[in-house]
Amino acid sequence: MTFGKYTKLVYGGIAAASIGGVAVLVLKDNSPAVKPFPTIQSKHSLVAKHVTMDKWAKLSNIETKTSGFTLEKAMACAVQFDNQHCGIYAGDGDSYTDFAAVFDPLIQEYHGISAEAVHTSDMDVSKIKGTINPDAPVHSVRIRVGRSFNGFGLSPGITREQRLDLESLLGNAFKTLSGDLGGDYYPLLGMNEAVRQQLVDDHFLFVSGDRNLIVAGMERDWPEGRGIFHNKEKTFLVWVNEEDQTRIISMQKGGDVREVFSRLARGIEAVGKSVKDASGKDFMLDPKYGYIHSCPTNLGTGMRASVHVDLPGWTAEGATALQDRCEELKLQPRGTRGESGGQTGITYDISNKHRLGYSEVELVQCMIDGVNTLYSEDLALKKKHGL
Ligand code: ADP
Ligand code: MG
Repeated sequence: MTFGKYTKLVYGGIAAASIGGVAVLVLKDNSPAVKPFPTIQSKHSLVAKHVTMDKWAKLSNIETKTSGFTLEKAMACAVQFDNQHCGIYAGDGDSYTDFAAVFDPLIQEYHGISAEAVHTSDMDVSKIKGTINPDAPVHSVRIRVGRSFNGFGLSPGITREQRLDLESLLGNAFKTLSGDLGGDYYPLLGMNEAVRQQLVDDHFLFVSGDRNLIVAGMERDWPEGRGIFHNKEKTFLVWVNEEDQTRIISMQKGGDVREVFSRLARGIEAVGKSVKDASGKDFMLDPKYGYIHSCPTNLGTGMRASVHVDLPGWTAEGATALQDRCEELKLQPRGTRGESGGQTGITYDISNKHRLGYSEVELVQCMIDGVNTLYSEDLALKKKHGL
């Protein structure tokens, strides 16, 4: 993507760049001219707030070391779309440091954390209190985290070669997983179409076509380098090279959140160890931001713990009412076909909203308690609407 030609005038060894036709920046001789300030369609996004002309002038010519990523690529969604809340992605771990002047305040504002905050992880299932009300019409539980590995770009920036190397590294590492976590890796490239569609319909596999992911550069060379690992029961799965280098997933029918969470904890450890043994590489982990993800909204735990649950009362009350109530309960409602798939019927995907500033245990607890609250309110709303 380009933003058109920039203007560079040279007066006796001093270069002056016209940024977006407004600001004029005087540069020392030989320094690269500043690219024109892009027109940000998402005027109320965090990008619009935090990418100032001043920062643009300092950062727009930087290319990251790992994957040659730029601020221009990072903010493509905020530039192209008018509906972004955040509007920025990282193309590699370096992006978070090279473009820290943009990312740091944006991350602090989005997650509501202070500049000094540090992230603490806690996967101790024994600390979870209570469980989902057995009367609640819960179809299934799923908890996922994202994990990235040092040395490879993140999805928006990862080079084709890095993506293929990562896929083959993971493919080999997965072979060492054993017991209930053992299974096989299925590349998307060459996958039988009926098999693929069934995996999608059963809520196991990601799909292509998300507009944000495309504009952010995450579907380059699709479907090459992408795939899914799963055990025989499809209760432990790993997505490879979708929005994150990996999404590690534990899921099953019914409402047993503890079992899903404890399997996830074991699974994350096993995947981390298998990659470490095979390559010496560790998960990308930052003291401030926890586990590194391509989307800054996923930083920290990268964890989304969800149930698919029927909420007929809330459906009658209306989508906005449910959205507002979820906000109060620190939850996020989605449709059952995934983030970009939309909502049908009375079944919702209800998950924790936060990722950073809370431990994994706290987020799972928040989801359990919140779903119990929504369920009891749903009973009252059913009466109100004569259901
Ligand atoms: P993610 O946060 O992992 O990117 P998406 O919203 O893209 O999640 O959904 C990915 C897939 O996971 C979708 O098919 C969705 O229906 C499925 N899914 C999410 N939560 C659950 C759940 N509790 N039970 C079953 N499937 C789920
Ligand atoms: Mg997704």
